[in-house]
Order: sequence, then C-alpha cells, then structure tokens
Amino acid sequence: MLEISDLRFRYSRHSPTVLDGVNLRLGDGEIGILLGKNGSGKTTLFKNILGIETPSGGSIRFDGENLLRMNRRERARRIAYVPQDIRFGDLSVYDTVLMGRVSYFGFKAGREDQEAVERILQEIRLEEYASRSVEALSGGERQKIAIARALAQEPRLLVFDEPTGNLDIANEQLIIEEARRVAKEKGIGILTSLHDLNQALDLGDRFFFMKNGRILSSGGSEIVTEELICETFDAHVRIVEIEGKKYIINGGNQK
Ligand code: ADP
Repeated sequence: MLEISDLRFRYSRHSPTVLDGVNLRLGDGEIGILLGKNGSGKTTLFKNILGIETPSGGSIRFDGENLLRMNRRERARRIAYVPQDIRFGDLSVYDTVLMGRVSYFGFKAGREDQEAVERILQEIRLEEYASRSVEALSGGERQKIAIARALAQEPRLLVFDEPTGNLDIANEQLIIEEARRVAKEKGIGILTSLHDLNQALDLGDRFFFMKNGRILSSGGSEIVTEELICETFDAHVRIVEIEGKKYIINGGNQK
C-alpha cells in the first residue's frame, strides 16, 4: 500500500510550488491513474516517489515504512519505473532485463538473477527474443522489455509515465493488457499517467485528477464526471454509459 500525505515540492527555493499538498493512496494490485493537463505535476510526483527528487514536505510511505528514509536499493525493491522508451545502446534483451536485477546483485549477476530473468522472459513470452538487440525491436516490444526489466526488480509497485505515448493502437493495447495482467496476476500495484481518458477508464481502478500540483478528486470510476473533466482539463466532454461502463466523447455542451 502506497500512502502519500500532504506532499510538497518545488524545483528550487525561488521557483513556484509544483506539488502543493498531494494526498494519494493506492492498494496492492490496484491500478491508479493520474489525470491532468501538461504541467499539472504528474511527472514531478513520479520523480518524488522514485527518489529522483526530494520533497520539501509531507510523507511517502509504503506498507507503513517511510520511503524517504530508504536508500536507493531498498526503494528499488519496492518500486520500479517503466520508462517510455529504453535504449541503452546495443544491449541484448536478456542483458537489458538483467539490469533490473542490479539492486540485488550489485556488481556481478548470480545464478538466482539469471533464473529470475529467464522466468520473466518466459512469463511475458519473450524467451525467443533473449539474444536479440533491443535496438532492433519495435516500440511496443521495447516497452514490453521495459516492463520485464522493471519486473526483474521484483517490486511491489510499478510507476509508468505515459506508457502508451509513443505507440500505435495495437501496441497500446498490448501494453495495457500487460499492465492489467501484472497487476491482477502478481498483485503488483501500478501508478501511471495516461492521456487517453477512455483508456484510463478501461484500465484504472482508482483515478487521481490533478491540477496545479493538487489532487482535485480521487476515487473509483464513479467520481469521473463531465464537470470534473471540465475543471481538470478545461475541456468539454460528454460521458455516456453503456452496459454500466462509462465512455467519454469529445465536445459536450459548451457553457
Ligand atoms: P506533467 O507531468 O503533469 O506534464 P510536470 O511534473 O512535468 O507536469 O511539470 C509540473 C511543473 O513543473 C511545470 O510547471 C513545469 O514547468 C515544472 N518543471 C518540470 N520540470 C522542471 C525542472 N526540472 N525544473 C523546473 N521546473 C520544472
């Protein structure tokens, strides 16, 4: 369980507040989606959770433990980051995934690390890719490798920033399905940002609407309303419900 309370952050002493008292809770195996305009603070929140930036106030706890007091290695065993694209030069798929084990092995990979990599490649059905160069793969395949690498860390929470940003529709679906499988089968929580509201509604268990460094509203799909979307994005949409599921259509009543 991830618990963020009253988190505050600014990039430097004289720059504006970017996170202005963020509160967020996400349970094990839950998929949480951050929604907000560009510049609302989503990436900055991720950077604080991952320890790339240090908050100026508030707390981030994981299963009751203070994440802000953990060293990198301890944090990496709880939380892993899936970047939009992975390219570390000409590495094989196997070696790329093995890099996810660094927080366990330090300098030299052992038998256990190799077994973990083989297991993950098998689970994610990428064994036959093991010796291929990551450079030679498509965007969607590289994204899958990025997930595999994060899973090699054996984390409890995966953080994705715009996971489908660079992908075509088929690959988007592939990644969404993979994210869902990881969360539900392995009980790993996922916190992600997504631009596409329908994709968000399809994937998410909990939604966090963010504006100007604050969470405007959070909860299940019941909180998603035309008014909240208008307030968050300054955009007019219509929401229709089909078989109990919400769908968002662009262009609602302009007030
Ligand atoms: P989002 O991910 O929602 O688009 P960001 O977290 O990237 O938002 O940005 C939030 C705010 O922080 C923006 O006003 C942005 O200009 C500012 N910001 C982002 N990165 C930096 C940085 N490295 N230094 C200073 N300001 C930054």
